[in-house]
Amino acid sequence: MPALRVFRCRECGHRMRLAGRLCGRCHARKGLLQSRAIVIASGSAILILCTVIVIVLAAPSDSTERHASQASARF
Ligand SMILES: [Zn+2]
Repeated sequence: MPALRVFRCRECGHRMRLAGRLCGRCHARKGLLQSRAIVIASGSAILILCTVIVIVLAAPSDSTERHASQASARF
């Protein structure tokens, strides 16, 4: 799997890895905005993932309860 190279180095224009903190060519530090953007992006991704998991886990149990109550009322 190839490494994600989203950002360009401000000093030399080299495409930096997403994970690394230093430029691979000139070893200049990444900008604060770039590292902060990664934190915000990963944080919101985890939040969305948790919301999806909660919805997926909550939905089937709710429908089975409704089915069970309907079945017991019918018979
Ligand atoms: Zn560089």
